[in-house]
Amino acid sequence: MKRILITGGAGFLGSHLCERLLADGNEVICADNFFTGSKRNIIHLLANPYFELIRHDVTFPLYVEVDEIYNLACPASPVNYQFDPVQTLKTSVHGAINMLGLAKRVKARILQASTSEVYGDPEVHPQTESYWGKVNPIGIRSCYDEGKRCAETLFFDYHRQHGVAIKVARIFNTYGPRMQPNDGRVVSNFIVQALRGDPITIYGEGQQTRSFCYVDDLVDGLVGLMATQGAVTGPVNLGNPVEFTIRQLAERILALTGSSSELIFRPLPQDDPQQRQPNISLAKQLMGWEPMVMLDQGLEKTISYFDQLLGEAGPSSRGEG
Ligand code: NAD
Ligand code: UDP
Ligand code: UDP
Repeated sequence: MKRILITGGAGFLGSHLCERLLADGNEVICADNFFTGSKRNIIHLLANPYFELIRHDVTFPLYVEVDEIYNLACPASPVNYQFDPVQTLKTSVHGAINMLGLAKRVKARILQASTSEVYGDPEVHPQTESYWGKVNPIGIRSCYDEGKRCAETLFFDYHRQHGVAIKVARIFNTYGPRMQPNDGRVVSNFIVQALRGDPITIYGEGQQTRSFCYVDDLVDGLVGLMATQGAVTGPVNLGNPVEFTIRQLAERILALTGSSSELIFRPLPQDDPQQRQPNISLAKQLMGWEPMVMLDQGLEKTISYFDQLLGEAGPSSRGEG
């Protein structure tokens, strides 16, 4: 049995990872400041004696004794990370320093939840790990993109300078149950809009692309990467390589919900990447990993989750009454 710290464990990805690592027979410590996460995501785990919850902001030091650390703490949706950009940067940078200092002291393996945003608005397509990216250092997405890039630098410097065992995962757009209904990400926005019969807000003309990975596949990838031999540091792309335009995504969600919501077009936000698709050859080669869940299958599960959530919130949240 390992003792594993998950920062950001009460968030969307973190809560699924807590579940998975407990099911695998580990002891899990979840540290979260509940900025975008919620107790609701992990409430079913609180009675488990092998699960511990700490209200903690990773920009402050944390002293615990653990074997492994998954560093997921950071708001992930553009709406949330732009709400307090300075705090977003502190979370990525000071959070990484503190968690790396902890990993160094207790000789724990540490995995960083990095992001496809390190590639910015990419000129190389699909994106491979060797591509350095095209990122605006002073735009409204920079607090997230540059924070995550700096965190990667810190991980590699702690590895080279102090011998810390690191794993860096570059996560591409992931979706599934427990995304927040109001966090502004495209999958949750479109599903909630479709279920309520509200207009579907497409930014730009909807010709920009993303590649959507279902959460269970992503969690398998994170756990698989942590288990690779010591010499493997990454960065490793984790995502589903099947690429869709945002308009195609809207059409799939309309078809699967049976909604008659209209499509409306809104201005494209600044620095919104035009295309994004992971090359996952490295993950396949290192751990035989590739996503198993097709978009429609994953969307159906996500739609059921939001349908239930909106139902619990009452008829007005569905736009009825
Ligand atoms: P999320 O917003 O649901 O989860 C982030 C969690 O971190 C929340 O529980 C939040 O309360 C917590 N948190 C934020 N700042 C904190 C701080 N200073 N101290 C402690 N906890 C803090 O987002 P998510 O989608 O679950 O993302 C998890 C991680 O994966 C993030 O690091 C994100 O950058 C990365 N990621 C996610 C995606 C995706 O598509 N979901 C893609 C790329 C990278
Ligand atoms: N740190 C932590 N928990 C630990 C050990 C360190 O939070 O168990 C923090 C500590 O506050 C420090 C940071 O990690 O600021 C970096 O630690 P490191 O040992 O690399 O640097 P130093 O302590 O020399 O600044
Ligand atoms: N998007 C959209 N309508 C929305 C929310 C997002 O068209 O209501 C677009 C957004 O402009 C981007 C894509 O969908 O091109 C993915 O956005 P998201 O915020 O989910 O993630 P990211 O841009 O970080 O990949």
